[in-house]
Amino acid sequence: MKKDIKSYKKILPVIKTLFPTAAKKYPLFFILQVLKTLIEILQPFLGLYVSPLLVDELVTDRNIRKLVMYAAILVAGEFILSALLEMVLYKLRKYQERLDNYFSMQIARHSMALDFQLTEDKKALDQLEKAKTGMTWYSGGAYGIAEQAFMFVGNVFKITGFITLIAVNAPWLILIISGYVAFNGFITSKCNAVDFAAYKRLAKINRLFGYFGWNIVDFRYGKDVRLYDARDMLVDKWVSYSEDNNATWKWQADSVYRYRVAGSIARAVTTIMTYLYLGILAVRKVFSIGIFTQMIESANALDSTMNGLVWNVQDIIRRCNYAYEYVLFMEYPEAIEKNTDKVQAGLHMIEFRNVSFAYPGTDRKVLEDINITIEPGEKLSIVGLNGAGKTTFIKLLCRLYDPTSGQILMDGKDIREYDYQEYMKQFAPVFQDFQLLRFTIGENILHKDPRQRTDEEKEKVDEIIRLVGLEDMVGKLGKGIDTTLFKIFEEDGIEPSGGEQQKIAIARALNKDAPVIILDEPTAALDPIAEYEIYRHFHTLVGNKTALYISHRLSSCRFCDRIAVFADGRIAEYGSHDELVNIPDGIYAKMFEAQAQYYR
Ligand code: ADP
Repeated sequence: MKKDIKSYKKILPVIKTLFPTAAKKYPLFFILQVLKTLIEILQPFLGLYVSPLLVDELVTDRNIRKLVMYAAILVAGEFILSALLEMVLYKLRKYQERLDNYFSMQIARHSMALDFQLTEDKKALDQLEKAKTGMTWYSGGAYGIAEQAFMFVGNVFKITGFITLIAVNAPWLILIISGYVAFNGFITSKCNAVDFAAYKRLAKINRLFGYFGWNIVDFRYGKDVRLYDARDMLVDKWVSYSEDNNATWKWQADSVYRYRVAGSIARAVTTIMTYLYLGILAVRKVFSIGIFTQMIESANALDSTMNGLVWNVQDIIRRCNYAYEYVLFMEYPEAIEKNTDKVQAGLHMIEFRNVSFAYPGTDRKVLEDINITIEPGEKLSIVGLNGAGKTTFIKLLCRLYDPTSGQILMDGKDIREYDYQEYMKQFAPVFQDFQLLRFTIGENILHKDPRQRTDEEKEKVDEIIRLVGLEDMVGKLGKGIDTTLFKIFEEDGIEPSGGEQQKIAIARALNKDAPVIILDEPTAALDPIAEYEIYRHFHTLVGNKTALYISHRLSSCRFCDRIAVFADGRIAEYGSHDELVNIPDGIYAKMFEAQAQYYR
């Protein structure tokens, strides 16, 4: 990734990324910007051309008719232009919000479509944070950048006009003003460098703050924080990050202050020189009083517009530097390789062929030389001690990661050749660390706005709720499946128990209607009766679908056709329950014996 390129080289990629998308979505925004620029170009020249006529008429003939006419042109022109400008500005204002929302949405969309591996990658997480802040208040987003770019164009036109005017009457003035503008530009660039360095330092601190501000104070951490007395440690850490934060801001303010003072001195010197030079020319009668005022006004206008232009350039560079983080983030690839092969309908034959895997950035093989075939409709139980590689096996099957070596085949074809989205549709997993959304039960199961829910869908959800044993709980809720989970957004939200949450997650998986159901420790949070119920309904629940079942409770294995025993990243034993209990000294036999003791 081309990360450390020069600041000014970031302008083009940013504009190329932001403007066409923005223009396609909101063309009127750009049309209004053009109008605004045109009016802003016209405004100063009206005064510059008409005022000298008025002044010279005053000091010479004092023809009333002419005086009134000049004054009328000035006032009416000013009025019309400012009224037009106000109207355009009024219309433009609403686009800040719209464009910001639009690009935030793009970031959110992209982060949800990202290659899963990146969700655990520190650099990608930092990049996401930088893209978010970089596209908001730091750069003003597409709105802020477009506004500056248009001002830049407007200022170029204005400067050309002012210089032409001045060059005719007082050419040296251009040199004086240019000197000042160059010096001022230097100072602004120094200040921007300081700002940008501060922003880079703050990105990491902000991410940590975000973690503290959002996650730790979340109720879900409440129990652990209290019982393990983590409060002091958390507060200390918070204080320490605040200090880092404050130190960075202080450093920024101190560094910028010195430059600002130098800028003020340069400004005073320039003003003195301008008046001296123009004064001498007027006294020598090189030009009229009207032209003297025109030159003073042009000099002021040229000075402020040139400064404006330098500021535009630096501001565009500064804004694009921040917004470039968005470009970099959007360059992160979406999902693993994209292929287009269609998955065939119905149940699938799945095969792991010599599959080995180490997590990205590590060397240790978490899975080694895995060979296994899962028949269509087979119920496979996967057992093994913690850390044996069971969940990793499932993650590879779901293509959240690609194998380091070897192949996974579905219906005889390498799974990498399938369309990623379509492949994902084949699986309905319930991971151990599944996440429910802070929305209603129905939305969690169906992933659909209740207003768009059809009667059939509602019936299906009710049926699934009955199957997973949530009927009683949901029945007691006034709003039924339209009850919100957790109390974050709704006061009348419920706090479901771990077991209930797991049942909702299982219901979500069942509703997906995928040919392969995966339950990773599905009953870990369930009480024995709920567990029994899930087992009793097991065949009704999964029907003829393929089911993978990771469990520590070996009693569940009896429901399965085959059992794969994982140990140290390998499949150590494989067969039916009856075959495995009879292996002398076998891992499964020992585990089963150990657990059976308690049930006898
Ligand atoms: P199991 O499901 O059998 O308990 P896992 O598949 O979760 O085992 O983990 C297997 C090994 O891989 C463990 O040693 C674990 O620490 C390691 N591991 C799991 N996830 C990651 C990860 N994202 N990055 C690096 N190592 C991981």
